[in-house]
Amino acid sequence: MAFEGLAERLQGTIQKIKGKGKVSEQDVKEMMREVRFALIEADVNLKVVKDFVKRVSERAVGADVMKSLTPGQQVIKIVQDELQQLMGGEQSPIKFNTKPPTVIMMVGLQGAGKTTTTGKLANVLRKKYNRKPLLVAADIYRPAAIQQLETLGKQLSLPVFSLGNQVSPVEIARQAIEKAKEEHLDVVIIDTAGRLHIDEELMQELKDIRSLKEPDEVFLVVDAMTGQDAVNVAKSFDEAVGITGVVLTKLDGDTRGGAALSIRAVTEKPIKFVGMGEKMDALEPFHPERMASRILGMGDVLSLIEKAQAEVDMDKAKELEEKFMTQTFTFDDFIEQLQAVKKMGPLDEILKMIPGASKIKGLDNAKVDEKQMAHIEAIIYSMTPAEKTNPEIITASRKKRIAKGSGTSIQEINRLLKQFEDMKKMMKQMTSMAGGKGKKKMKL
Ligand code: GDP
Repeated sequence: MAFEGLAERLQGTIQKIKGKGKVSEQDVKEMMREVRFALIEADVNLKVVKDFVKRVSERAVGADVMKSLTPGQQVIKIVQDELQQLMGGEQSPIKFNTKPPTVIMMVGLQGAGKTTTTGKLANVLRKKYNRKPLLVAADIYRPAAIQQLETLGKQLSLPVFSLGNQVSPVEIARQAIEKAKEEHLDVVIIDTAGRLHIDEELMQELKDIRSLKEPDEVFLVVDAMTGQDAVNVAKSFDEAVGITGVVLTKLDGDTRGGAALSIRAVTEKPIKFVGMGEKMDALEPFHPERMASRILGMGDVLSLIEKAQAEVDMDKAKELEEKFMTQTFTFDDFIEQLQAVKKMGPLDEILKMIPGASKIKGLDNAKVDEKQMAHIEAIIYSMTPAEKTNPEIITASRKKRIAKGSGTSIQEINRLLKQFEDMKKMMKQMTSMAGGKGKKKMKL
C-alpha cells in the first residue's frame, strides 16, 4: 500500500509525544529529527523536507502549544495541518468553461498512465458531473495509443474522435473541438502524445495545441511510483508548457509518498486526482486533508463513507432496514451484505481508512479475515433455502453435510450460527429501544 513506510514511521513518532502532559523544546527537536528522517526515507524533496520541519518546529514550540493542557496532541495537530498544507490544503476542483466545450489537455511521459487516465476522467465527468465528454486521440506516435483510446471509448460507451496517425495532433485537436460544438458535447479531453523523455519537439507540439484554444485545464499525468522523477517531470512540463494540475497514477501500488508530498510544494500546482488501479472507475479526487489523516493513522472516514455510498443501492438499503426492524433478516440477506462489502475493495485497504484501526491487534492481518469471509460464504451456499431463512432447523446431521459441502468444519458452522443468533438478538434490542414495531427511527 502507498505511504506504508512513511505512515509507520510517523505514527511511531507521534505515538511517543501523544500523551505527554509537558513537551519541551528538546522533545520537539527529537520528534522533528525523526519526522525529517521519515520524510527523506519516503523520497520527499529535500528542500520540501527542510521547509516542512522548520514550519512545524516553529509552530510547535510556540507558547500557546507548550502551555496548553494537551501539548502532545497539539503538536500532532500541527504536523497534520502542515502535511495537509504541503499537499495543497483544500481539494482542487475541475475548472469548467462557462462557454462549452471545456477543453482539458492530458500531457505526460509514455507509460505514466495518460491514456488510461483520459478514459477514467471521462468516466468521472459523465458519472459525477453529468457531462458529455468527447475523447480525442491525439497521441499519434505511441503505437496502439489510438486503438487503446478507442477500446476504452467502446468500453465506456463514449465517443472517441480520431483521424489516424497521419494528421498532425494540432489539426486533430482543432477538428475535435469543432465536432464537440456541433454535437453539443461539453467537455473535450485531448490525449496528447507522450514521449520517453522530455524533448523540445514534444513541448512545441503541446504549445501548438495550447495556442489553438486556451485549454481550461492542462493535466499532467505522472506515475507516483517514480518518486522524485515525477516531481522533476512536473517541473519541466510546467515550465515549458504550463500545467494547471497533476494526476498522480498508481497510488494503489507501494509508492513511498515522495511525489505526492513534494509536487505541490515544488510546482505550486495542485494534485487534482489520484489513480487507484487499472480499472475505469479507479480515479479519485485528491483530498489533502484526508490523505494527511491517513498517513498519520487517523483514518479517512469520509472516503470510506463515499466508497460505501457508491456501492450501496438505496432501495436495497431501505429494504434491509425494514428487515432489521421486523427481524426477518435471513442468511440470504447476510450474504448479500458480505458481497456489498467485498465490492468496496480489499478488506485491508478499507480498514486503513478507519481511525485507529491500524493499531488494533490482529487487524493488521486482515487478509486472514478475507479467507474467513470465503468460508462463511461457502457455508451459507451449502444451506437449503429453508435453512437460510430459519437456521434453527439445522440438525446435527445437516451440519455435518454442510461442513462437507463447504469444505469447512462443524465448529465454524456453529460459530456462524451463533453470530447470526447474536445479531438477531441485537436487532431485537435495538428495535425495542426505538419503540418497537419498526415504526419509529432507530436511535443509536
Ligand atoms: P500512457 O503511455 O501514459 O498513455 O500509459 P497507459 O495509459 O497506457 O498506462 C500504462 C500502464 O499503466 C497500463 O498498463 C495501465 O493499465 C497502467 N495504469 C495506469 N494508471 C494506473 C493506476 O492508477 N494504477 C495502476 N495499478 N496501474 C495504472
